[in-house]
Amino acid sequence: MPESTLKCVVLLDPNTRAYKPINHNLNANLAVEQFSADPNAKIVDQAGHHRSSEPRRCKPCKLAAEEATKQHAESSSETEQSEQGPAAVSTEESESD
Ligand SMILES: [Zn+2]
Repeated sequence: MPESTLKCVVLLDPNTRAYKPINHNLNANLAVEQFSADPNAKIVDQAGHHRSSEPRRCKPCKLAAEEATKQHAESSSETEQSEQGPAAVSTEESESD
């Protein structure tokens, strides 16, 4: 696997509803192995190797986190509308005399 397919991982903070970088320069397989089970984690392609040793201070990681936060805000406001349907469907339909 070539080094150009490195991944960074951003994690959704449920309190702030914003993503923050938690890891980077990960091998793609490793990133999926470690984070695909976490619904709050988002694996992002890196354009290249990140030079910072600290993901939280890494500028490209922060940008990826910002981007993920934006996309999340957009998608969640969309689903909010569609979820406003009749959620309370009555279970008493067997009452047909
Ligand atoms: Zn980074």
